[in-house]
Amino acid sequence: MSPPVDLSPSAYLEDHPSVGRGVFASTIIPAGTEILSVADPLICIPDEAHLDTCCHYCMAEATDEASYVNQAYRPPVKLSYCLGCRVVKYCSKY
Ligand SMILES: [Zn+2]
Repeated sequence: MSPPVDLSPSAYLEDHPSVGRGVFASTIIPAGTEILSVADPLICIPDEAHLDTCCHYCMAEATDEASYVNQAYRPPVKLSYCLGCRVVKYCSKY
């Protein structure tokens, strides 16, 4: 069963013979336009702007001791680089 997907009318799903299944534009789509929304995604990764501040596993945002004072309901989240790729970061849950 596929998750519910809300696809823009300016895009369509197709099984392309050379690149496989994907989302393709049916018209010129302006930058920043939302073309696909999945209510309950199976995979979620931080975008490039959040690689240093977001856990790649659980999406927790890094916090420091100062912000911990204001968020007494949650412990501070410290992120460490992946020992394999040294690009993404993980919190202690991983
Ligand atoms: Zn995490």
